Amino acid sequence: MTNSEIAAMLYEFAELTDLEGDVFKRNAYRRAAQSIEELDGDVAEYDREGRLESIPGVGKAIAQKIAEMVETGRSAKLEELRSKFPPGIVELMKVPEIGPRSLVRLHQELGIKDLEDLRQAALQHRIRSLKGFGERSEENILKGIAVVQGQGGRMLLGDALPIAEAIAAHLRAGGCEEVSVAGSLRRRKETIGDIDLLAGSDEPLRAMDRFVSYPRVASVVSRGPTRSTVRLADGTQVDLRVVPRDSYGAALQYFTGSKEHNVVMRRIAIQKGFRLNEYGLHRRDSGEMVAGAQEAEIYRTLGLDPIPPELREGRGEIEAAGEHRLPSLLRLEDIRGDMHVHTVMSDGRATMREIAEAAFRRGYEYIGVTDHSRSLHIAHGLTVDDLLASVEEARQLTDELGFPVLRGAEVDILEDGSLDYPDEALAQLDYVIGSVHSRFKMDRRTMTERVMTALSNRELNILGHPTGRLIGRREGYDIDIEQVMDEAARRGVALEVNGFPDRMDLSDLNCRKAIERGVTLVLDTDAHGVEQLDNMRFAVGTARRGWAERKDVLNALPLDQLRRFFRVAGA
Ligand SMILES: [Zn+2]
Ligand SMILES: [Zn+2]
Repeated sequence: MTNSEIAAMLYEFAELTDLEGDVFKRNAYRRAAQSIEELDGDVAEYDREGRLESIPGVGKAIAQKIAEMVETGRSAKLEELRSKFPPGIVELMKVPEIGPRSLVRLHQELGIKDLEDLRQAALQHRIRSLKGFGERSEENILKGIAVVQGQGGRMLLGDALPIAEAIAAHLRAGGCEEVSVAGSLRRRKETIGDIDLLAGSDEPLRAMDRFVSYPRVASVVSRGPTRSTVRLADGTQVDLRVVPRDSYGAALQYFTGSKEHNVVMRRIAIQKGFRLNEYGLHRRDSGEMVAGAQEAEIYRTLGLDPIPPELREGRGEIEAAGEHRLPSLLRLEDIRGDMHVHTVMSDGRATMREIAEAAFRRGYEYIGVTDHSRSLHIAHGLTVDDLLASVEEARQLTDELGFPVLRGAEVDILEDGSLDYPDEALAQLDYVIGSVHSRFKMDRRTMTERVMTALSNRELNILGHPTGRLIGRREGYDIDIEQVMDEAARRGVALEVNGFPDRMDLSDLNCRKAIERGVTLVLDTDAHGVEQLDNMRFAVGTARRGWAERKDVLNALPLDQLRRFFRVAGA
């Protein structure tokens, strides 16, 4: 076990003893956890040499627990403590904004038991009704939930989806015609727990044989006629359910979730005299099955327009479907070019030509290359001379290939909000992305002012990865993103939906908020190699989860309109 894994377990000890009301023990665990985080050298080494108690804050009792963790990877006492509380509570403790007192009140007064309850309560503005909580607490709680969900063994969408698709292809090649990813993966959540697959087949045993024979399967966890679970070599757990073809649509609907969405679906079914489950939609009086094979049929029979999986989060989609006002969601095919790509000139792996050719092969109508600016030394930012030379290269390439290569730059937003090249140099470019890459720890007001200053620069066209978060690694910087959205909308600056799997920035919820505020989104990959141009589908998935339509997206525009947007920006 690593030092940080052990520290994490000690922090959990601290949280749970806190819930039990033992402040003294809480502080002791916390101190020990901090020491271990700051420790030079391996805790396991200290254990081997019998020196655990030389670590500041580690007494005999804690040393024994650490030794057990180092040697067995677990702690019996921690497991005992965990079992005293509903599992959701432990997860809730990890939300940075909620202390144990608040947690007890949220639980008692609003009945909140887990993260999803908490998310719904914040989204529906129920938390601000509690004394001592406000609008800001709800925002912070939602942010906290996003951070927690980026951790705890969850996989990034960008890692999970290719694995799931490869297994689905393996099943199809084995004669299984109807196969789909299900669960949060089908809804394109930014992180997912396990991979869920669903097959519709009247020969379930054959499908299961095929499933467990997938070459990357390391062990078969369980195997049955309707459900099997395997573990891949990298530890990823994959679940396959097989249902009769007549029930495939109902099962797909059921196993895609979300829980919140399905609760409402079942209620509507009951109101209309039906019963809905994973086998089908049945009339309550006669038991007759009226829909099951096709997912869309289930929605239609209930008087709803079919709801795209990305919207099924219990965020108003069912009401919208009933009133025929679902958004006509953006599709991957609507994207005409990628506006954020790095080349070998900074820290990318492909030349401008290789990127242009790859973009052309993908069917794009244009591509934008954006290397880092001079202050970002670790990423070999370009000097002004290099930048201007590359503008010429883009022009020549455009002529030679007959395919528009736009020359942009990903320019650092410096500490005072100024951009990292002089305006005269920026004016030579087709467009400018401004990004924060340094000094993340400013307070909210200073950081917001820094970005607002950048937005006021007439050369700025796009704000790159606007919150700066790295899923599971770094929370976004503290910024009033709504103020930024309003200013971006006013100034004609597009906000990026960066599809790099650990960024997904803006997030789904922020996309929706931005659209409601009249912001233009731009969907990018931030590719550092040609193969990463594929990440566009993750940006599209996130934007779809944010209810984005084609009209909300800058790079769904043809080139002349794109250029017009860049010209009027900052006006
Ligand atoms: Zn960047
Ligand atoms: Zn970048």
